[in-house]
Amino acid sequence: MYRKNEMIELNITSLTSDGDGVGRAGELVFFVPNTAVGDTVRARVLKVKKNVGFGRVEEVLTPSADRIAPECPVSFSCGGCVYRHISYEAECRAKRQKVIDAVTRIGRLPEELVRDIVPSKNIDGYRNKAMIPVGLDRDGKVVMGYYARHSHNIMHCLRCRLSPSVFNDIIADVYAFLSRRPGLVYTLQNRRGIRHIYLRGTAQGEVMVCVIAGKRRFEDDSVLYDSLKEKYPQIKSIVVNVNACDTNVILGDRTFSVWGADSLTDTLCELRFEIAPEAFYQINRDQTQRLYAKAKGYAALTGEETLLDLYCGAGTIGLTMADSCKELIGVEIIPEAIENAKRNAQNNGIANARFFCGDATAAAEKLREEGVRPDVIVVDPPRKGLTPELIATVAEMSPDRIVYVSCDPATMARDLKLFTEQNYSVKEITPFDMFPRTSHVESVCLMSRRKIRNEETI
Ligand code: SAH
Repeated sequence: MYRKNEMIELNITSLTSDGDGVGRAGELVFFVPNTAVGDTVRARVLKVKKNVGFGRVEEVLTPSADRIAPECPVSFSCGGCVYRHISYEAECRAKRQKVIDAVTRIGRLPEELVRDIVPSKNIDGYRNKAMIPVGLDRDGKVVMGYYARHSHNIMHCLRCRLSPSVFNDIIADVYAFLSRRPGLVYTLQNRRGIRHIYLRGTAQGEVMVCVIAGKRRFEDDSVLYDSLKEKYPQIKSIVVNVNACDTNVILGDRTFSVWGADSLTDTLCELRFEIAPEAFYQINRDQTQRLYAKAKGYAALTGEETLLDLYCGAGTIGLTMADSCKELIGVEIIPEAIENAKRNAQNNGIANARFFCGDATAAAEKLREEGVRPDVIVVDPPRKGLTPELIATVAEMSPDRIVYVSCDPATMARDLKLFTEQNYSVKEITPFDMFPRTSHVESVCLMSRRKIRNEETI
């Protein structure tokens, strides 16, 4: 049995879905972050459970051919990136493998269904959204940056390679403002100060600054806003979101306009989309266009179809397909996103779309009861995936094709298994790297209805 702090030698043979290296020592499988497939490392044992152990790399004895020098000083402690120490090609291999592992182990589907991963053109600076936590360290000094791995401790870091430089510049200026005013930082005692700086940007370089604070107004707020407005002509919108709840949820439910527009407008797939701060919007715009194009290809629309877009956010996926179907119906739970979706249809001259605000499971069941029979259904759920009830309702509506866009291969695989137990076959799955350097991978999957006897009675 291994003891805590014992040193062991490991050959790293694979990576977990979170990007940790996996190596075997006798009977035990050890997980060691910041290693690469092909490394031989000396690791310190941190914890041992029944069949698995956890270690920390102390020395790389023989480096893997995948290794590169990380270009970020905090890459090993930051909770954002996990793949800064390996080549982008090795990262894409690991991400495709993550999808294959989920699809074969959880979905019980053949590996051959998983196509090549679509790599991102931009590996750095691709984020169009950043939420930077603000806090105080033990000495009462202001810290801003990113959460440390597996924790809610803020690691002070003002520049992130995943963000465009204008985001980093704005963050540095907000820090300069706050570091002289630590009393303005939100704490459980004051419940009024600043908790997060939330930035969004568009392809045209326009920026929205959303200050998330316990109260709508804070001391010297106009000093901060005026200096940002003056220095950054890119800023088109400043808003305050109020959140005084003691939870991990970042956004509160009230947003107030401070200056400029209430929402940003971005172009995507040649359409213009208004996106409110509360509405979901894909983070890597360039890659999103490729993802949507693949989803549209899978939908194989001819102009005759009724298309149902579940979890539609601001309507983006469905609206980029609306020119190729007869009717589009979108469903989304966030009211502001549905307001955006309706306006986005109007602003782009799309007349064959309607949108409903509600829970996807309940709304789909209602549509089914009303007799709506979509030919194609697109689902794009959050990480937790679909409910078994929604899968049953979708199968009962018996669309010819289902396009499943997923940000979590494990829940997607679980759901695909349920669809295959209904009347659907999985045709293919294409992984997309939307989030270079992090452990996240997106997938888009095509399913089609199996032809069975007595089809007309279904
Ligand atoms: N298809 C959109 C949004 C995908 S993100 C796009 O590509 O931009 C997932 C969306 O599901 C989010 O907008 C989230 O608000 C929404 N959502 C989460 N839970 C939901 C539920 N139970 N019912 C409907 N929508 C939900």
